Amino acid sequence: MKIGVLAVQGAFIEHEHMIEEIGHTAIEIRQRDDLEGLDGLILPGGESTVQGQLLNKLDMMKDIKNMISNGLPTLATCAGLILLSEHIADDDIVHIGTLPVTIKRNAYGRQLSSFVTNADIKHIGNYPMTFIRAPYIENVSDGVEVLASVDNHIVAAKYNNQIGLSFHPELTGDTRIHEYFLSTIK
Ligand code: GLN
Repeated sequence: MKIGVLAVQGAFIEHEHMIEEIGHTAIEIRQRDDLEGLDGLILPGGESTVQGQLLNKLDMMKDIKNMISNGLPTLATCAGLILLSEHIADDDIVHIGTLPVTIKRNAYGRQLSSFVTNADIKHIGNYPMTFIRAPYIENVSDGVEVLASVDNHIVAAKYNNQIGLSFHPELTGDTRIHEYFLSTIK
């Protein structure tokens, strides 16, 4: 399968390695033309404000939004999840906005830059979760499946073709989430 990894900013190389490790092709998405013929899309972590600005500047925001709305399987992590969210708490900006949840940025405080914890994820099992200046999902609309919570905060959710994670599965060496994502394609 051909899996596009948005490569304008952030932790995209680690996702590419994961996709290749499990036997598929990772395509770096740097411009509009790269969006053709994808079987799936990964939106990596990084800085959502910068990524959103770059998507507009590179004229890719609308295309990506349309492709996801039309069913392109999408895995979004951390900043990627912020881009996908329909609402950002305390902010009027919407980036891609196809995932009907409210996301809270830097929800664990700006100073707590990183922590790791284990928790159960539906369909996958117990998983080591790495959080880096992470958001969490404050609430979800009907039809959104909550996949995982940590301390009563939602950190993973699925809505039709979209999976959003607060944490970084590409940094753990554990390929089960990427395998699960690929299993949802087709
Ligand atoms: N804090 C970042 C943001 O708001 C997300 C952090 C990350 O992707 N690790 O965009």
